[in-house]
Amino acid sequence: MKKHNFSAGPCILPPEVLLKASQAVVDLDNSGLSLIEISHRSKAFVDIMEKARALALELLGLEGKGYKALFLQGGASTQFLMVALNLLEKRAGYLNSGTWAAKSIKEAKIYDDIYEVASSKDANYNYIPKGYDIPSDYDYFHCTSNNTIFGTQMKAFPKCDIPLICDMSSDIFSRTLDFSQFDLIYAGAQKNMGPAGTTLVVIKEDVLGKVSRKIPSMMDYKVHLSKGSMFNTPPVFAVYTSMLTLEWLKNLGGIAAIEKENEKKARLMYSEIDLNPLFKGFATKEDRSEMNATFTLENENLKETFETMLKEAGINGLNGHRSVGGYRASMYNALPLDSVKVLVEVMSELESKA
Ligand SMILES: *Cc1c(COP(=O)(O)O)cnc(C)c1O
Repeated sequence: MKKHNFSAGPCILPPEVLLKASQAVVDLDNSGLSLIEISHRSKAFVDIMEKARALALELLGLEGKGYKALFLQGGASTQFLMVALNLLEKRAGYLNSGTWAAKSIKEAKIYDDIYEVASSKDANYNYIPKGYDIPSDYDYFHCTSNNTIFGTQMKAFPKCDIPLICDMSSDIFSRTLDFSQFDLIYAGAQKNMGPAGTTLVVIKEDVLGKVSRKIPSMMDYKVHLSKGSMFNTPPVFAVYTSMLTLEWLKNLGGIAAIEKENEKKARLMYSEIDLNPLFKGFATKEDRSEMNATFTLENENLKETFETMLKEAGINGLNGHRSVGGYRASMYNALPLDSVKVLVEVMSELESKA
């Protein structure tokens, strides 16, 4: 029986995507060849790559606006480094809103001075810092739209005159935003788009070419752009499966349609967390994430009972990250509302037992 998969990442994908992807591993579109045994330079695969790149821009509403999409390797963690290598000349501003943000700062510091415009580390990152200034002479400002581990999400982004860079690994394609306010967006596929192994990078081309350092080819966005995201062998399976998910999303009605579903799931989840006296939300209410709901059980004595009930209900992946403890319900695009209903039922059943 299929489990209710609340895993934070790698995460749930739509069943039809899993089916199509697994079929393509055996035989890609009745070609008599497997997706993973054909040349990445074949027409079949070049078409897949181009479709994936085009769908990403189309869904984000960035077609014809000077943006290009790349599917790179090395995870979002490599983007921490690539952003700095390609864009940091003198100084950049970073918002420290969580563990991933802190890691991006650490990597950028290898190259130059970094100014932390604000941080919520003092409160174990349970809120999004606000009301900070971004110096207008910096090279760029970097933020994290959704803090996967702590369950906080930026609801608004600062207006700034310098390039705005955003790590959207865990909430890309989940909500409508004016994506053209960003100059560079990156997202590891395995949170809301596909299997691990590829990272989507969406770049406004005119931000590139402004640093004086030499950039190694594999780290250079311009090199990847000039080669159509095929400078070296791309992760074909991860790109194909991401393409299928993007196609699935487009057929559903795009981001605006999935956003409505995501809102329903989050509303149901948070109303249970707020109303059930056994549980306590971790993130500050105004900043809580629609993707990752973090909460704790007030009475540790109920832990075993709760976890047995979760198991019996077929709920997977609810354990919180070690730096927060408790539980984290990740409600990415492919998670059905029904799975949230099952979880909420278990939570309220625990209340009636306690
Ligand atoms: C998971 C995650 C990362 C790291 O992604 P990798 O692909 O494992 O390197 C970075 N940022 C955020 C917001 C994440 O959720």
